[in-house]
Amino acid sequence: MPVSDAISHQPVARRRVGVFGGTFDPPHVGHVLAGQSVAEAANLDEVWYVPANDPWQKSDERAVTPAWLRSEMLRQACQVSRSETITFRVSEVELATGGPSYTADTLSALRADHPGDDFVLIVGSDAAAGLHTWHAADWLSGHAEFLVYQRGGQPAEPAAGFSTTPVNVPLMEISSTEIRRRVHDGRSVRHLVPAPVEGLIAAYALYREPDAVS
Ligand code: ATP
Ligand code: MG
Repeated sequence: MPVSDAISHQPVARRRVGVFGGTFDPPHVGHVLAGQSVAEAANLDEVWYVPANDPWQKSDERAVTPAWLRSEMLRQACQVSRSETITFRVSEVELATGGPSYTADTLSALRADHPGDDFVLIVGSDAAAGLHTWHAADWLSGHAEFLVYQRGGQPAEPAAGFSTTPVNVPLMEISSTEIRRRVHDGRSVRHLVPAPVEGLIAAYALYREPDAVS
């Protein structure tokens, strides 16, 4: 038998995957830069962006863009932002689950579906400050590892009791709220969102209405 036919029993290295959840309505360059910076600083093999199906902490406050369209914007943002050194993917695990999106369920589903990978959650300081308000916060405090970075204009400490590691990310003081406001006001969002996202915002006439749900 030729040597090349021998089966290798070398163990496959586990991948370290950063899970970057959010509403992404729309995704912007702050999300991309944070993903890339955290991946480099924490030696991640990949970053998986996870759009929330129903961001239950927000959906009472404003009309959220349908999940499939936020996911498509994110997919195109990841495609144009990938590089030789970092792999960005979009996971639709929360769309597949349906209903309100809970990170504890998402992490459990990812671990069950990808037993060969290690998952760590990526959160900005604003999100980290509210970890205790998340669904199944007690479970998360014992079972999840968080990489936390300070977000531009929103300095805050992570909620106590969680396993958090600080990571440096260049500060970029932009938000999806600001982008929605700019579109509503007829101002440009060029350079604030990846080019295909700008195209989808125009094609689907997003954010023409003010945020507030009447
Ligand atoms: P919104 O204004 O609608 O709340 P957002 O810009 O805060 O949108 P989210 O989808 O709420 O975006 O946030 C998802 C994740 O991205 C959170 O962990 C948040 O801290 C992080 N994030 C948001 N904006 C930035 C930014 N400019 N730089 C780095 N991280 C960011
Ligand atoms: Mg936010």
